[in-house]
Amino acid sequence: AACTPIEAAAPRPRRSRQARIAWGSRVVTVGGDAPVRVQSMTNTDTVDAIGTAIQVKELAQAGSEVVRITVNTPEAAQQVPYIREQLDRMGIDVPLVGDFHYNGHRLLSDHPACAEALSKYRINPGNVGKGDKHDRQFAQMIEAALRWDRPVRIGVNWGSLDQELLARMMDENSRRAEPWDAKAVMYEALITSAIGSAERARGLGMNPDQILLSCKVSGVQDLISVYRELARRCDYALHLGLTEAGMGTKGTVASSVAMGILLQEGIGDTIRVSLTPQPGEARTQEVVIASEILQALGLRSFVPSVTACPGCGRTTSTTFQELAKQIDDHLRAQMPVWRERYAGVERLKVAVMGCIVNGPGESKHADIGISLPGTGEAPAAPVFIDGEKALTLRGDNIAAEFHQIVETYIEK
Ligand code: SF4
Repeated sequence: AACTPIEAAAPRPRRSRQARIAWGSRVVTVGGDAPVRVQSMTNTDTVDAIGTAIQVKELAQAGSEVVRITVNTPEAAQQVPYIREQLDRMGIDVPLVGDFHYNGHRLLSDHPACAEALSKYRINPGNVGKGDKHDRQFAQMIEAALRWDRPVRIGVNWGSLDQELLARMMDENSRRAEPWDAKAVMYEALITSAIGSAERARGLGMNPDQILLSCKVSGVQDLISVYRELARRCDYALHLGLTEAGMGTKGTVASSVAMGILLQEGIGDTIRVSLTPQPGEARTQEVVIASEILQALGLRSFVPSVTACPGCGRTTSTTFQELAKQIDDHLRAQMPVWRERYAGVERLKVAVMGCIVNGPGESKHADIGISLPGTGEAPAAPVFIDGEKALTLRGDNIAAEFHQIVETYIEK
């Protein structure tokens, strides 16, 4: 049979509207032709302004391009301008998003300095009140967005879905000749809540470019189903995240799988990894994982990548594992300095391999690679630069010498 070339896999673009989240001269565009953004959320009490400002700074320095903070009480709202001021003093211009539930309408109208200090408002249509109150309070929040010229995210979550809407849709479903299953009705309710709220916001004068949507659920397959349909039905910029993903490996894998599939289909303009930090784990871990997801898909580059083999019976020593870790740690640690000095350094690929089986081949695919000697091999470590064997290292100082070769390569 005739063969055709196999196409290289690549994320498919979905052209959405572009929102602008700004603070001072810093403008973070989301959607349209902007790169997929990384965002995160603090877990400090916003009333603790200093603690919150410090965590925002850490998240921003880890790579979060937008940071959301809880604004749940008048006391918290009063602290928001102070948090902003502290960040400005520290030279951290990351835009802040206010996360509002139940009383956002009051907080935004009673605390204009808070409304002004925030660069975007998150509105959960399931938590804006019931009946007439819902419409009035929702309108109040949109009025604040219009007054301060701020974008909004209409963030629906299935843990707090508009119960009146869901009950109505369940009722309608029961009258169908062939009723849908409960999950399908839930999916429909999530999407209806998000898109319906966006339409109401537009009716109140909101620029559709300044509306972002999210429909978060905690199941991987549910998230894929909901976002595929949400993306099909609208062109708003989409905030993507698996809510309540869980802890550690489980949360990381679930978020990566769900978001990876959707991002490959071009769905998602900004992502948040919602991990429950394990005791002692830094909040910034969620930013690291979000960045790694985008980098693994080839959507963005943040840090040089280190390819390392898993090791096997051919590597009895741990030298190559240690070297791989040292190189990885070193490249990450140097990035804040290198980013300023060397354009494109984040796209560098380094390979650290454990033996001759895949070592030379993988090293040739990298910009710079080393193939350490496995058991039974001659004690020599060939180094490959730009696909060619450049030199061979021997002796006890291989790690330090390879470090130096990497440094010199980057400088050149
Ligand atoms: Fe084992 Fe060599 Fe493969 Fe590494 S490259 S996993 S040491 S066979």
